[in-house]
Amino acid sequence: MSEWVPTTCVRCAVGCGHLQRGVEEGYGLAAVRGDATHPTNNGLACQRGINETSDPDGEWLTRPLVRRDGDLHPTTWDVALDVVETALRDSLAETRDLVAVLGSGQQTNEAAYLLGKLARGGFGTRHYDANTTLCMASAVTAYYDAFGSDAPPPTYDDIPEAESHVIWGANPSAAHPVMYRWITQSALEGTFIVVDPVATDTALDADRHVAPTPGTDLQLARAVLARCVETDGIDREFVKAHTTGFDDLVADLPDPEAAADEAGVSMADVDALAAALDDPTLLYCSSSVAEPKVPTARRVHLPVTS
Ligand code: SF4
Repeated sequence: MSEWVPTTCVRCAVGCGHLQRGVEEGYGLAAVRGDATHPTNNGLACQRGINETSDPDGEWLTRPLVRRDGDLHPTTWDVALDVVETALRDSLAETRDLVAVLGSGQQTNEAAYLLGKLARGGFGTRHYDANTTLCMASAVTAYYDAFGSDAPPPTYDDIPEAESHVIWGANPSAAHPVMYRWITQSALEGTFIVVDPVATDTALDADRHVAPTPGTDLQLARAVLARCVETDGIDREFVKAHTTGFDDLVADLPDPEAAADEAGVSMADVDALAAALDDPTLLYCSSSVAEPKVPTARRVHLPVTS
């Protein structure tokens, strides 16, 4: 029987340790499981990590499909490419900017470069995103502005040490179950608040579920910051040493009650968030908070005491 080989799951950035064993004959994996000695997952692993690693071939298209009258039909590559070419030509003939090209974070740098050349140089469209704008660009800019480095500052070691956990616009119970185990373990002895318009599984686990009206993250963040200022929950020394323009920010803050009202939440919710941020806290947010007009960290990394 072949041996178990330690490796790292490549399906998401949680970085779980896996053990995998090859098939006796030929190419492929006979079994994959979590590595009990790995510090990130201690033997845990999610279904996605196990299934996609053990069966990387999965179910893939083997032939191109073309939609006719609402239904997809198998066809040849010549036909499929003709359909795409005709549709692109018709759109580009009208105006170049009728075509938008979106890349994926799963592309290699080389693929992203070539796709950019095709979009901008070939199609001549202004609307090209290799994935950065949709994903991390706004957060990275804010990380540089706030912390001088483009990586999220916390590490796994910070999770057990946090006394409160605020998850804003993310559902790690479903998306990152292994890391979520870290959070729920730590939150057993602390405060756990979820901000999400949707009552997700994560929200249902929380001590408090704050459900703002969709699209009002900024109003809620400003209400919380205004409340922190009002109650003097600001680390003034940190602000003085590491920030500029704080007085201008404060002058521009709304009345917390009015902002809470705009966000469709109660002042009790705002106070609970302000109180949670007064502890040594971890604030987890997702790109769903980043996509509107203002960069993520600028909006939700509040300079509160901790
Ligand atoms: S959480 Fe799941 S997909 Fe992500 S690294 Fe761990 S096993 Fe892989």
